[in-house]
Amino acid sequence: MKKVLVAEDSGFFGRMLKKKLEAETGAQVCWAQTMQEACQFIEEQPDGFAAGIVNFHLPDAPGGEIVTKLGERNVPVIVFTSVVNKQIRDRIWEKKVVDYVYKEGAQSLDYLVSLLNRLERNRHIKVMVVDDSDMQRQVMADLLRVHRYQVLEAADGKEALELLAEHPDVKLVVSDFHMPHMDGFELTQTIRKSHSRQDLAIIGISALGDNVMAARFLKCGANDFIIKQHFLTEEFYCRVSQSIENLENIQAIRKAAVTDFLTGVSNRRFLFDHGERIYNQMRSSCTSLCCAMLDIDHFKKVNDNYGHQAGDMTIKRVAKLLQEQLPESGIVARIGGEEFCALVPGGKDEVVALFEHIRKAISILPVSLSSDNESIHITVSVGISSEPGRNLLDMLSRADAYLYQAKKEGRDRVVC
Ligand code: GH3
Ligand code: MG
Ligand code: MG
Repeated sequence: MKKVLVAEDSGFFGRMLKKKLEAETGAQVCWAQTMQEACQFIEEQPDGFAAGIVNFHLPDAPGGEIVTKLGERNVPVIVFTSVVNKQIRDRIWEKKVVDYVYKEGAQSLDYLVSLLNRLERNRHIKVMVVDDSDMQRQVMADLLRVHRYQVLEAADGKEALELLAEHPDVKLVVSDFHMPHMDGFELTQTIRKSHSRQDLAIIGISALGDNVMAARFLKCGANDFIIKQHFLTEEFYCRVSQSIENLENIQAIRKAAVTDFLTGVSNRRFLFDHGERIYNQMRSSCTSLCCAMLDIDHFKKVNDNYGHQAGDMTIKRVAKLLQEQLPESGIVARIGGEEFCALVPGGKDEVVALFEHIRKAISILPVSLSSDNESIHITVSVGISSEPGRNLLDMLSRADAYLYQAKKEGRDRVVC
C-alpha cells in the first residue's frame, strides 16, 4: 500500500488530513507534528513515500527544511499553508514542489485528494519536451518530472518526430517555437497528421510570443500556448494538468460510449462500430474463428415473477460468467436486453465445447436475490456459426439462425 507523509503541527488539520486521505486515496498516512518526528518516519521508511503533504513552517523547522529534506529523497511535496503571499509563494516554488494548497476548509482538502490521485496517474503518462535550448528544455523537463510524468526530451522537431514514432503513446508535447530545421508550427502540423487533439495534447511555448503567435499555434493544431517571457511555474502546471485531464475525460466518454452500463461488457455500438475491424484482425491472425449468440431462456418470466431488479442481477451474472469463461483474445458484447454476442478464436469443436461448458455452468448457477435467501435458476440457448462467411454481419446472422433453432428445439442447448 502506498504511504503518504503528513507533516502538520496543528492537531486539527493533521487529524482531518489523515482521515480524509486514508478514506479517499487508499494511502496509509504517517502523520508527524514536528520535523524530528517526520525525520524518524523518513528513516523508518526504506521504500520512501508516494508523496509528502507538509506545513512549510514546523515548530522545530521554520524555514521549509522539511521540503528540502523530502526533495533530497525524491519525494514529491505538496505544501499545505495558511499564509500565501508573493514572498512565500516564491520560496515554495524555489524548492521544486508539486503544488501548494491554501488551508481554507473542505474545498482545499478535496483539491489535495485530487492532486494526490493526479500524481499517481501521472506515473503512467508519457510527455515530451521539445526545445533546442538545453537549459530551457531541462527546466521544463524537471518541472514535469516533479509531477511524476515520464518525460522524453527532444532538441528539435526531427528528433521529436523520431521519438514520437518510437513512443506513440505520448500524451502531451510541449514544444518551443523557434528551433532549427523545423519550427513549432510545422512540428505541430506534422504531429497532427498522425495524432488527433483527442489523443495527444500540444502546448506551444515561445520566448517572445504574442496573441498572434498563440492564435497561429492553435490553428496549427496546438491545444494551448504559453509565453516564456512571463513564465509562471504555477500556470505551467495548471495548463499541463488541464490538457491531460481533457484527454482523460475524452477517453472516459469514449469508453462509456462503447460499454454496456449494466454489465460493463462491450455494448451493441462497440460490436457494430469496431466488430468488423476486430473480425478482420482475428481472421488474419488466427486460423479459425467462431461467432456465438447467447440468449437467456424465458427471461420475461424472471422479470414477471421476481421483478425487474432481479432480472438485472441475472443479466449481470451471465455477463460476468461469460467474461470469466471466454478467452481474453475474444470479445463479448451485450447486444440486446438478455442477448449476448461473442467472437471467439478457435475451431468449431473447441468453441462448441466451451459454450456447452458455459451453458451447463449457467444452468446450475444460482442467482441469489438480495431480499431473502431465495435464488433463481435460469438456462440459456446458444447459436454458433463456425463459418467465417463474407463479413461479420453474415457470421452474426448465421449464429442468430442457429439460436432461433435452439429456441425452437426446446431451449437450454447449443446449436452449431
Ligand atoms: P426466449 O426464451 O424466447 O428468449 O423468451 P424471453 O422471455 O427470454 O424473451 P423475450 O424477448 O420475450 O423477453 C425478453 C425480456 O427481457 C423482455 C424485456 O422486458 C426484458 N428486458 C430487456 N432488457 C432488460 C433489462 O435491461 N433488464 C431487465 N430486467 N429486463 C430486460
Ligand atoms: Mg430470451
Ligand atoms: Mg431475447
